[in-house]
Amino acid sequence: MKMSDLLHFTAKSLWPEAYATDNTPQLIAGPCSAESREQVLATAEALDHHGVKLFRAGIWKPRTYPGQFEGVGEKGLPWLTEVRKKYRMLIGTEVGNAKHVELALRHGIDFVWIGARTTASPFAIQEIAEALKGSDIPILLKNPLSPSVGLWLGALLRLIEAGSKKVALIHRGFDIGTHTALRNTPLWELISEVRQVAPSISIYLDPSHIAGHKNYLPKLIQTAYHLHYDGLMLESHIAPNKALTDPAQQLTPDELAKLLHTATPSEVAQLELLRDQLTTTDNQLIDRFAHRRLLSQEIAKVKQSLRLQPLQEEQYQLRLQQLQATAEEYHIPADLLSQLYQLVHRDSLEIQSGEKKCTNTNFSTSQHTITLSGLRFFAYHGLLPHEKRIGNTFELNATLHFPATEVMKSGNLEKGINYAEVYQLLQQEMRIPTELLETLTYRILQRLGSAFPLLTSATVTITKLAPPIPSFDGEGVSFTATANYKKE
Ligand code: PEP
Ligand code: MN
Repeated sequence: MKMSDLLHFTAKSLWPEAYATDNTPQLIAGPCSAESREQVLATAEALDHHGVKLFRAGIWKPRTYPGQFEGVGEKGLPWLTEVRKKYRMLIGTEVGNAKHVELALRHGIDFVWIGARTTASPFAIQEIAEALKGSDIPILLKNPLSPSVGLWLGALLRLIEAGSKKVALIHRGFDIGTHTALRNTPLWELISEVRQVAPSISIYLDPSHIAGHKNYLPKLIQTAYHLHYDGLMLESHIAPNKALTDPAQQLTPDELAKLLHTATPSEVAQLELLRDQLTTTDNQLIDRFAHRRLLSQEIAKVKQSLRLQPLQEEQYQLRLQQLQATAEEYHIPADLLSQLYQLVHRDSLEIQSGEKKCTNTNFSTSQHTITLSGLRFFAYHGLLPHEKRIGNTFELNATLHFPATEVMKSGNLEKGINYAEVYQLLQQEMRIPTELLETLTYRILQRLGSAFPLLTSATVTITKLAPPIPSFDGEGVSFTATANYKKE
């Protein structure tokens, strides 16, 4: 099959009549991840109460970094079948390989979706398409992380070639290399192109993964209504702040119902979303410009020691020429780019000749700190038998250093370090009885380093409040250690 065959392909509708909604977008809702039977059933019960008929929950979670919660796996599938039985919902989960498909089908999962990270891999898609052969269950295909229509529709073609007719697409936003307030950038224009190429394929919007934070959901949902999306996939958790994945973007079932109830189609919401993204992009340009001015300052020093003039005519002409080609590549009018360059270059010469001063405004590499202080844990660390039996109270203090510019600018916690996750890790480690505070501290520092790749250094102090020393009346005995995590 070729891309052009999509024009005449007729997809089947995904849902049985009783589950289809007319006029409003079809809604799929449920937690990012199935975490426990109780969490799955409580979320489903509340969603059922609000009339949700299609339930999602991730069983296998494709995480960017190793060492994070990767889903409960097969044991969560019966929780979903229980949801179907109890609430007559159709149940769906994400599949990333043939094994997932086989297990999902064996447990009677009603629909599957393919995640953004998987769509980009033709081998994985081929394997999934073949494993799904003959099953006739709906398959929703998320867009790949990078804005490649080819990869996305290529994956769709593989599914169709393997015999799937109940196929739909999910727009979950793209990683376009610049960070705006949203976690992933929606590309509305690209979606209208896809609609033209594949007119019979339903397109769903996944506002949760575009937003990254629930505050942005109202505008995204209004935009979805305005742009006539066929469906919505939204993450909803009975207790979002306790969620093991994507806590900031999940809504409680009540919040979700209220939001959908009050949202109206709005072009203004789309305009505001685009404006927010333009503002962030402008700020990024400014940030880069400030960085460039710093480089001018440095280059001035090197030129001075080499006894070179600030203006190197040949170099300047060469850059102007190179920019012509770049302009073409990026479809930017060549004269616009050359005018911009001349302005920037003049400013740079003024800095280099000392007419203008430039001070360090480079924010992007600076270090930021999270401090967790005075954490108390009851635990069984110690060398003596009674310490292992009776236990002791420990105080833990941790200071974490990392570059937080991205999370500060974007408001997207995924780009920083979530202190709730840090606390969880500390809690887990403090529960493991360890004879020496030194080994305990070492283990904690090791785990922090692997769980949070952004960390550049961390200091941990653990204090045993009632050490086994006869008639001790001090505040405790502490051990402190610092780890510097090497960065490439
Ligand atoms: C998800 O739906 O939970 C998920 C992992 O989404 P995406 O593949 O869009 O990141
Ligand atoms: Mn998620």
